[in-house]
Amino acid sequence: MSVYSIAIDGPAGAGKSTVAKVIAKRLNLTYVDTGAMYRAITLKALEKGSLKKEEVIKIAEESIIEIKEGRVYLDGRDVTEEIRKPSIDEKVSLIASIPQVRNRLVEIQRKMAENYGVVMDGRDIGTTVLPNAKYKFFLTADLKVRAKRRYEELVNKGIKTDLKKVEEELTKRDKQDMEREHSPLKVAEDAVIIDTSDKTPEEVVEEILSYIKRREKNVL
Ligand code: C5P
Repeated sequence: MSVYSIAIDGPAGAGKSTVAKVIAKRLNLTYVDTGAMYRAITLKALEKGSLKKEEVIKIAEESIIEIKEGRVYLDGRDVTEEIRKPSIDEKVSLIASIPQVRNRLVEIQRKMAENYGVVMDGRDIGTTVLPNAKYKFFLTADLKVRAKRRYEELVNKGIKTDLKKVEEELTKRDKQDMEREHSPLKVAEDAVIIDTSDKTPEEVVEEILSYIKRREKNVL
């Protein structure tokens, strides 16, 4: 079987990570959640009590971020749950707009893809991180649907919030991600766009796998 990479981009709540995890498993590739890396830097900056650009850049340069078996480690500490808190959601796009932070994380992400075949999800994978990825998908969904998914995710984790607040937060984060100067969220020219609003994660997985299957012999 040939080794290749798959880029999955899109706004928050489009279903990227749920789908990417299953695809990686089915194709025996490594799943890399790049959003988790920006979240880990944000967590450390908040813990240090400073979101000053120079200090955040220093944090990004000095930190060791690892993703192993679905867990996220920051300097050896398991931060998988902590990085999903609303306090991180609120600040992560600001941190992700700093070019030096992006350069550092993109370097790590590219190294990962050199070593193994990956399914990588994020905002700039098809456009910047892996422009030569063999397959590129851009998942999207209506704002209301994305907000509801994110709201349910938080409620299931026991985090108190309300739907309107979640919708506002998503809108703000998408705007910041689309309008930033350095590698903004946008559809790669050669990406396949999938609207997941009325689809289950299983349906999206099947759509992606059958697309790949049509082009890749002996992969499934
Ligand atoms: O994917 P997730 O929602 O966890 O990403 C959190 C944030 O990290 C995004 O809103 C975006 O600001 C940033 N991000 C990014 N580039 C990526 C992945 C995430 O800028 N490749």
